[in-house]
Amino acid sequence: MINDFNYLRPGTLKEAFAMYAEHDDCKVICGGQSLLIVMRQGMIAPEYLLDIKHIKELNYIEFDKKEGLRIGATTTHRTIEKSDVIKKNYPVLVSMENKLASIQVRNWGTIGGNIAHADPAGDPAPVLIALKASVKFGGAAGEKTMLLEDFSVDYFETALSKGELVLEIQVPAPEPKTGAAYQKFNLLESDMGIVAAAASVTLNGNSKCKDARIVLGNAGSTPKRIKRAEELLVGKTLNESLFAEAGKIASEDCEPVADIHASEEHRRHILGVLTKRMLQKAFEEARA
Ligand SMILES: Cc1cc2nc3c(=O)[nH]c(=O)nc-3n(C[C@H](O)[C@H](O)[C@H](O)COP(=O)(O)OP(=O)(O)OC[C@H]3O[C@@H](n4cnc5c(N)ncnc54)[C@H](O)[C@@H]3O)c2cc1C
Repeated sequence: MINDFNYLRPGTLKEAFAMYAEHDDCKVICGGQSLLIVMRQGMIAPEYLLDIKHIKELNYIEFDKKEGLRIGATTTHRTIEKSDVIKKNYPVLVSMENKLASIQVRNWGTIGGNIAHADPAGDPAPVLIALKASVKFGGAAGEKTMLLEDFSVDYFETALSKGELVLEIQVPAPEPKTGAAYQKFNLLESDMGIVAAAASVTLNGNSKCKDARIVLGNAGSTPKRIKRAEELLVGKTLNESLFAEAGKIASEDCEPVADIHASEEHRRHILGVLTKRMLQKAFEEARA
């Protein structure tokens, strides 16, 4: 059962900042796809809910060839999935969204809510981090931007301070000769991943690695970059055995925990396999 709460519905961002600053025991609600679950479970019972879903200033997708992509926080997963500009320039984001939950959840759940919720099994963060995304956030006292990889600080904990909202996700313009891939391993179609891996590869010429990113999902308390494996790849002529070595490092350096769905050992194994496969896929896309 959900406890009674007071409902606040600001019309503008300015009003939202003011209302959020004014009420102490206040939680933001956007799509409610994650928040209502924890409220129903009785894990939180805020006195106020601040509904930002209808603030138009936060609902947009903008792309510029030089500046890259900007997605407003209240943009739904479904809007991202259906965006032609994202499909053309960041196809990995569309394929990730396509497997996130069901159409019903994607129709209402938002990218800002997903990032703010900071579930280590969330799908968007590993992909966005592999694409070097940043997050803009702030409140009445001002705005700031940080790399998304620094934004999650622990299980369901972020760098947001009291009174602050996630405002925008920013993704740099895609570099030439770059490929990216993402896959989660789940037992039920469109469920949260038991584990997941994202990879991006930028080439110099046909097969020399200029840059690489490997980011694992549900492999620790926050999305986890495997920097030791990235360093192994940069500057080398890429091939299958290097991807296998990177996968081995990923399975060693990840920090998954066991639960009813899978043991720690099983997760490490799958993360190694997924890392190898996603690197191969990203490499092929970069060469295409
Ligand atoms: C059946 C089901 C299946 C799901 N499967 C997946 C899946 O496969 N992959 C996946 O990644 N997710 C999955 N989810 C989770 C869900 O889709 C996302 O977490 C969703 O995007 C959250 O967005 P929301 O707008 O609904 O956030 P809400 O539920 O409204 O909010 C979530 C949290 O973020 C805070 N918040 C929301 N917006 C902001 C903001 N702009 N600034 C600051 N704080 C904010 C809220 O206070 C709350 O703490 C699933 C959910 C359901 C119900």
